[in-house]
Amino acid sequence: SDTATVYNFSAGPAMLPQAVMRQAQKEFCNWHDTGLSVLDFSHRGADFTAIAEQAEKDLRDLLAIPEDYSVLFCPGGASLQFSAIAMNFLRGKALYLNSGVWGDKATQEAKNFGDVIAFDLLSKQDGKTAIRSQQDWPDCSDDYDYIHFTPNETIGGVEFADLPKAGQGRWIADMSSCILSQPINVKDYALIYAGAQKNIGPAGLTIVIVRNDWLQREPVAPVPSLLSYAVMAQNQSMYNTPPTYAWYLAGLVFQWIKAEGGVAQMARRAEQRSQALYQFIDNNDFYRNPIAKKNRSRMNIPFILKDESLNSLFLQQAEAAGLRYLKGHRSVGGMRASLYNAMPMQGVEALIDFMSAFAAQNR
Ligand code: PLP
Repeated sequence: SDTATVYNFSAGPAMLPQAVMRQAQKEFCNWHDTGLSVLDFSHRGADFTAIAEQAEKDLRDLLAIPEDYSVLFCPGGASLQFSAIAMNFLRGKALYLNSGVWGDKATQEAKNFGDVIAFDLLSKQDGKTAIRSQQDWPDCSDDYDYIHFTPNETIGGVEFADLPKAGQGRWIADMSSCILSQPINVKDYALIYAGAQKNIGPAGLTIVIVRNDWLQREPVAPVPSLLSYAVMAQNQSMYNTPPTYAWYLAGLVFQWIKAEGGVAQMARRAEQRSQALYQFIDNNDFYRNPIAKKNRSRMNIPFILKDESLNSLFLQQAEAAGLRYLKGHRSVGGMRASLYNAMPMQGVEALIDFMSAFAAQNR
């Protein structure tokens, strides 16, 4: 196919399914033989309303979102939600259980609006980064307004799912880099949010799933309309002109996931992709991954070359081989392979073949 030999391992914006790109390309100029581009539909018109409603319905089906939750298509990135969450829901105090850079950033933003207790979940176990055991966590039954966490930390490559029962119903999760990669129980959460640019679609759109009873909560200070979940929900995410094209593309990705077998199938593939790469890294002493096995991310896999002076050569040769954006985040260094839903197994196999050859040549 046209781009079969290039794989994008970027953490986001990340690669989208080829089938989605082809459909989008066609409909960009002529949607359903209307002679109109999807790009210039009025958000109030029947054509776009149908697209918007279908996208919401498909997302509800995919994640089994209960009726008493609203689904919002919000403008701005996930970082904007760091503020919105605190502005809407922080009254007394909130707990932030942090396992990396994004949780820390969410904490910093929330601190602008009230009392925030931040707890670092990370510890070292046998030289590897791991999530502390729950006995060492703060008591989640305390009267926090909400408890925020990041199930998958994109930069560090740390993922965890076990949560104390005590916080159930009050969890707020930043699922930017793991949404739609596995089934979740939405009822455990008060709010789930995810920037679109990894598993959903274009950057700048953020999906919010929020339990309706929380929309009744009175904020302590006036909240700008576009950051108010109540206002957004009352207006079906169309208080202003929404990012229509991003919404449309997200809808195509939801349809693609459904056609491929849903989130259970995405979970199987994520497991397969990540296990193949971890297994290769673990069995080749030229590379290492710094995360304890139980907390390794299925989506973002950082790895370090034993001889870091080879980093730029590695990247240069990888790029020449069509393996793009493997450079690790500037705060971590090394390499990172992001393996989101659209990454085919062939991409992982190509990466492993390249890493294997590179190691053999540079030992
Ligand atoms: N949260 C997580 C887990 C992320 O990986 C990112 C990175 O894109 C963000 C938040 C920030 O998203 P945005 O750049 O859309 O504000």
